[in-house]
Amino acid sequence: MATCTYCGKKTGWFADHHDACFAQYQSTVAAVSKGVSEAIRKHNNEALVQLKNALNSIDKPASVSFSDLCLMALGDWQRAVDDACCTDRTALELTAEQIAFLILFLQTVFSWLQPLPPNFRELIARYHEQIMSLQVGDTIRRICLGEGIDRLAMGDPKVDSINYLPGEFPVIVVENVRVETAQTTYLRNYGGPSFRVAPGLYWRIGQSQGQARTSLVVDEHAGHLILTNMGIYYSNATDTFYTPCTQILKRVMWCPPNDLTPKAAIGMILNLRNGKQFGFLMGSPHQSLAFVKLLSLSSAGLIHEKEQLPTSN
Ligand SMILES: [Zn+2]
Repeated sequence: MATCTYCGKKTGWFADHHDACFAQYQSTVAAVSKGVSEAIRKHNNEALVQLKNALNSIDKPASVSFSDLCLMALGDWQRAVDDACCTDRTALELTAEQIAFLILFLQTVFSWLQPLPPNFRELIARYHEQIMSLQVGDTIRRICLGEGIDRLAMGDPKVDSINYLPGEFPVIVVENVRVETAQTTYLRNYGGPSFRVAPGLYWRIGQSQGQARTSLVVDEHAGHLILTNMGIYYSNATDTFYTPCTQILKRVMWCPPNDLTPKAAIGMILNLRNGKQFGFLMGSPHQSLAFVKLLSLSSAGLIHEKEQLPTSN
């Protein structure tokens, strides 16, 4: 005899659940999904209170905890957001209030998890990614509408300790970035030089006799990138540098050689006017895409600070 996945009681031979228990589980999933859709449609603080009440009152199988319902709700978030947007999801079609609510939704429902699931670090990384995606989309939306953007991460010592140029302000911070550089040593009397066109990809001139020995060096210290409206700062434990947008000749996504799609992109390459090249390894395709997109807007001089409304004292 086996036991039912949903209620833990004995089932007949060759069955791992009772049909009634499975049906109850399915209706639980549907109820969570409905609650999430309603909350996102309403997008106000009250909607989150109502969602919590709805989750608390769902008739669910014994094996499903309240935290399980929260995890279902978090998992269903993407589907509900896609439903709320008419076309494919870009934050451009969401209002500032909707974006603020979607971020609050993830943060609030995550805070209801008690205890945290074993894979909580992975979940935090995923939700952080979704939040960043919305924030970048909102920033781009403001730029396109000519609204100007707020200074990001005020009070973050990493961002505030920089002596910005007059008129310069931070736009986005990306954590956990590594710099990759190529070190090439040419062996004497061997063939023509090879040029690095992308990390791991070389173009050799002349006859291929001998070899240029090139090694890619990834900095062991991860650091952070700060994009401003005028350039980028990179800083890690041992190194800090600034590259103004005017020095950047070309910026490209960096994809792994076996998968040249933006989806697989994991970094960005900058070609500088002085012939130098930097590869930045970022944690995710989305971060690289967002950074390259914002960097191109910054280079075009399209990012300006939001006008501060006069305060009445
Ligand atoms: Zn059962």
